[in-house]
Amino acid sequence: MRIRYRTLTAWLGVYFFLTLLPMGLALIFDRPPARALGIEIGALLGMLGLGVLAMQLVISGRHPWFARGVGQDNLLQFHRQMGLFAWLLVLAHPITLLIAEPDFLEFLHPGDELLRAISLSALLVATTLLIVTSLWRINMKLQYEWWRALHGLLALFVVSTGLGHALMVSHYTAGWPVKIALAVAVGAALLLLIDSRVLRPWRLKGRPWTVAKAEQIDGDATRLVLDADNHKGTPFAPGQYAWITLGDTPFSLQQHPFSIHSDAHNPARLEFTAKHAGDFTRSLSDVKTGTRAWVEGPYGVFTLDPSSDQDAVLVAGGVGIAPIISMLRSCAAEKSRKKLLLLYANSDRASVLFWDELETLSEQLNLRVVHVLEDPPEDWTGEEGLIDGELMDKYQDSSSYNPDYFVCGPPPLMNSVESALRDRRVPLHRINSERFNLV
Ligand SMILES: Cc1cc2nc3c(=O)[nH]c(=O)nc-3n(C[C@H](O)[C@H](O)[C@H](O)COP(=O)(O)OP(=O)(O)OC[C@H]3O[C@@H](n4cnc5c(N)ncnc54)[C@H](O)[C@@H]3O)c2cc1C
Repeated sequence: MRIRYRTLTAWLGVYFFLTLLPMGLALIFDRPPARALGIEIGALLGMLGLGVLAMQLVISGRHPWFARGVGQDNLLQFHRQMGLFAWLLVLAHPITLLIAEPDFLEFLHPGDELLRAISLSALLVATTLLIVTSLWRINMKLQYEWWRALHGLLALFVVSTGLGHALMVSHYTAGWPVKIALAVAVGAALLLLIDSRVLRPWRLKGRPWTVAKAEQIDGDATRLVLDADNHKGTPFAPGQYAWITLGDTPFSLQQHPFSIHSDAHNPARLEFTAKHAGDFTRSLSDVKTGTRAWVEGPYGVFTLDPSSDQDAVLVAGGVGIAPIISMLRSCAAEKSRKKLLLLYANSDRASVLFWDELETLSEQLNLRVVHVLEDPPEDWTGEEGLIDGELMDKYQDSSSYNPDYFVCGPPPLMNSVESALRDRRVPLHRINSERFNLV
């Protein structure tokens, strides 16, 4: 996605302020007499760990106000890195304390205080489980939906037990003002987790959708069309995505993100194309017309403004064409004359989505479409192989050309195109990318 440095700096400022808040509260108010250095470091590592863990709940909650400017995909990458950091802090906290003062082992001794010993041991195990199941979910054959539910429950347990532990140790948190401030700060993060997992689906109940069409299409994919049921729909910008749930209730473990590829001028009818990747996407073509559906969103900052004059180079691979089709449809609806170049990569001719529509759009718009096939048929006269810097240079004739770039496709394509753009010193604010592999 496109990152603006000023927004990023402001965002990081807010993030670090909130992360350091538990530690700051402990140090600023009613500071008790200092103990040995190792003990102080160990205790503060714990407070920092609590701050990082509480912020993990905020980062991962799909809160648009928090993701604005930095993008949901970047946030999730950040969430992953900070998760590892939090785990190290949670481990370093008791290890440092025990090295500095072996008597702290009493905290884990069941004979001393059973509840405390159990909850602290469970805290260490739960934090480790959070990390292990996230890093090795696929190797552990853990289905995404079950992993997500487990992840939410473990996170709730870890942060609330961590808060309880910090309050009960009552060293830095001996005074009531610190206790209350800490409980409010960490409690707010816990409430945001409950909001995203419970209250948000509840709010969706007032805005149902109906499946108008679900049909298998060429390219091993299903086209899904949803109509708003007695409401005005979901306004979205071309290129955004939404989380879809099918069935009578929005409280389902099965919730999947798909790019909305309909024209943004009609928010009451949303179209999606889902490539058959696993159980959910393969079952989509069997969904009956009239089935209840729920749409959470829109999300994402991978968006193009059809009314601006800014030229654009669009690079797509496979189903990565979906958000780009929405951009092109919206440009056609606004009769945009901006110069557009689409480089669209697929493994073979049968995998190409929207072939006919792309031809029509190239007649309506100032758009050149270049199909690139890895395994082309014998009579193919177009481009072969993969999209790389050389191929992009070939179709961008003038050196004064200064377009925005939009890249969406499988990870190898994204990595190759992003690195080619960096090598060509394309300013970062001109590069927009969307990754479909959030987890
Ligand atoms: C922002 C975004 C936009 C997307 N847009 C499209 C699109 O327009 N068309 C399209 O075909 N695909 C899109 N995807 C990918 C799509 O969400 C997954 O392919 C789909 O959820 C796979 O589900 P499954 O059960 O069929 O397959 P599975 O075999 O269960 O999953 C295949 C892989 O998809 C990922 N995945 C599975 N379930 C989810 C989930 N609930 N949320 C996030 N990732 C999941 C996992 O990494 C998993 O390993 C998008 C993904 C993202 C993040």
